[in-house]
Amino acid sequence: MSRVYNFSAGPAVLPEEVLREAAEEMMDYRGSGMSVMEMSHRSKVYDTIIKEAESDLRELMNIPDNYKVLFLQGGASQQFAMIPMNLMKNKKAAYIVTGQWAKKAWKEAQIYGDAVAVASSEDKTFSYIPDCSDLDIPEDADYVYICENNTIYGTKYKELPNTKGHILVADVSSCFLSEPVDVTKYGIIYGGVQKNIGPAGVVIVIIREDLITEDTLPGTPTMLKYKTHADADSLYNTPPAYGIYVCGKVFKWLKKMGGLSVMKERNEEKAKILYDFLDESKLFKGTVVKEDRSLMNVPFVTGSDELDAKFVAEAKAAGFENLKGHRSVGGMRASIYNAMPKEGVEKLVAFMREFEKNNA
Ligand SMILES: *Cc1c(COP(=O)(O)O)cnc(C)c1O
Repeated sequence: MSRVYNFSAGPAVLPEEVLREAAEEMMDYRGSGMSVMEMSHRSKVYDTIIKEAESDLRELMNIPDNYKVLFLQGGASQQFAMIPMNLMKNKKAAYIVTGQWAKKAWKEAQIYGDAVAVASSEDKTFSYIPDCSDLDIPEDADYVYICENNTIYGTKYKELPNTKGHILVADVSSCFLSEPVDVTKYGIIYGGVQKNIGPAGVVIVIIREDLITEDTLPGTPTMLKYKTHADADSLYNTPPAYGIYVCGKVFKWLKKMGGLSVMKERNEEKAKILYDFLDESKLFKGTVVKEDRSLMNVPFVTGSDELDAKFVAEAKAAGFENLKGHRSVGGMRASIYNAMPKEGVEKLVAFMREFEKNNA
């Protein structure tokens, strides 16, 4: 068996310990005589798996009792529609456009009502987070929407926007569980798990209970009402059962590692290794404003498309996979999620140093 250092933005690296445990339990989950994949989601065994996953997540994130945790399908992208369908009572919402995912969410919301872009960083190819301390938010906006960590561009809010009393909705797909958060500041926090938590196919929605109502936009399908899933504890229909099981293992791994404040320290330490090198390098350059740098996704360029391509190819041959930047940005991007070991980042930087020397 040989494993590479996988810098993919998503689906992405998972803790080896978790993968090994899942492999061990593949044929016979703890004496049940079957794989979790083959198991009824209504069985007692599975009920324990999903309940434990939820309680471990609650513990990790310190989720208050007046928030529901939903394990849903459809990816983060389905939430782009589900959020307005469930929350746009006044048919108005404010969007902060800091990248492609925020923009997609904003466009989708326009199908359902008046989605206003109250700030954007598109003027500088989304290389910064706009000042959100005093935005012109419509009085009757049902919510303010952000993408908290911009996976493609590598920016992250270091401070949440001043929503002026409006509900905050945040897509945290690519920074989920990377550091502690104050859940009470949000109406909804959600994310696809395939970036930092588990296998694709699960999206976790943490939603304040008073936002779960029957009062959705006319025509909202049953499956797209938060209430449907909240009332059934995420078991209205067959959930992405195996994916939730792996997420549960990652939650246990995170608890064992010491929880989210320890993860934050580790992530800061890892990111610093890479950013410090980018700041001193004469060949490689980071592409975003320093203050807004993401701890999870680190885009960089050499300034030459040819050298970029050469770097990606040579890195791949050396066991560093998926370093090519998003097709919309070019260059490189190293995603260094929770499960990327520090050693992976150190070795990448050593490789970059060597490449710089050879291509000076
Ligand atoms: C990957 C990503 C998405 C899209 O996720 P899907 O599960 O593929 O729909 C949305 N938002 C962010 C921030 C992402 O990183």
